[in-house]
Amino acid sequence: MQPSILTVLATYKCTAACKECCFECSPQVQGRIPLDRILGYIEEACDTVPTLRLVVFSGGECFLLGKDLDAAVACASRRGKLTRTVTNGYWAHSPEAARKRIGALKEAGLGELNISTGDDHQEFVPFERVVNGAIAGAELGLTTLIVVEGFENSRFTIYDALAHPRLKSFRETHPNGHLLQIMRNIWMPFHQERELRHTDEIYRKPERIPLLGGCDNVLHNMVVTPDEHLASCCGLTMEHIPEMKLGKLGEHSIAELVSRGLDDFLKRWIWLDGPDAVLWFARQKDPRVPYPEKNVHPCEACAQFYLNPLAREAVRDHWREIADDVLLRYELKVRMLARRDPADGGRAAAQPSADPAASRVGHG
Ligand code: SF4
Ligand code: SF4
Repeated sequence: MQPSILTVLATYKCTAACKECCFECSPQVQGRIPLDRILGYIEEACDTVPTLRLVVFSGGECFLLGKDLDAAVACASRRGKLTRTVTNGYWAHSPEAARKRIGALKEAGLGELNISTGDDHQEFVPFERVVNGAIAGAELGLTTLIVVEGFENSRFTIYDALAHPRLKSFRETHPNGHLLQIMRNIWMPFHQERELRHTDEIYRKPERIPLLGGCDNVLHNMVVTPDEHLASCCGLTMEHIPEMKLGKLGEHSIAELVSRGLDDFLKRWIWLDGPDAVLWFARQKDPRVPYPEKNVHPCEACAQFYLNPLAREAVRDHWREIADDVLLRYELKVRMLARRDPADGGRAAAQPSADPAASRVGHG
């Protein structure tokens, strides 16, 4: 198995400062990766990871990179990779401005546009800009996705987006209407005082959402963070889990860091069964490990495992009991996926070009 996605988080600076932003991005955050090093990481990943298919630019707000974003998209596109930008749409202050900005990126080779919105985002970016950007993207032939923050007590919902007159008309009448999709994303609370309710209707509760199941991101997504580490997933809690960072770029090659991730038993287990299974195993071995009942997102369980010394100790003391089972099933899954798609030698189920919601690092 080898990674299929490279995500470039060149900066955590953003034009917005959403309350529940997983990376606490804001206009006050400083620093970014210089263009020459962004291009270097893309080239190196293309040279050394033959299964790489998709390069995603997110953040922070990747459109703050200006023309450097176009250059980075062009670099990935020249190397034959699919490309995607994830943005809040602040730049689309009119239909003309949106067409001009997206036109330049399309020229550079951009294939997909992903725009986030919802209650928190709209404190900073009016929804009309999202509409301008999304219509411009689809008009120009980009696969375009609007992602709406999802929680029960949100004021702005996916139904408001679906009913928006310009979006509705474009989707129903324009020849490229099918390229513009709208979906809801689980908006995960990062602040304890904030109540974001999630219900049966949205997430098929009652008691516990069926979060069990392998993580499609870990080991598939090589994430270049603004401090120029390579991380092994695009999880919302990735910055809170030191183990998700594989090492410093520049000091180690991408190939070396990728293989460090692939050799990690825990990451293989999370890919196979998901973090809830790991947390549940830890609790069987030590009942003092709490098993949370109100999680709404698999990445929460990941942080709850990695950040709990009791859970880590329980797995460290007992992992050998299940190692053969996990590694056997891991190999079987890799082979099954390789048989399904021989070209990539065992890449997991995520199909970047068919799944515009995959790898939405940043922006919730
Ligand atoms: S579940 Fe864990 S490994 Fe998977 S994306 Fe979330 S934080 Fe990363
Ligand atoms: S969620 Fe997205 S738009 Fe909001 S602050 Fe974070 S990166 Fe910016």
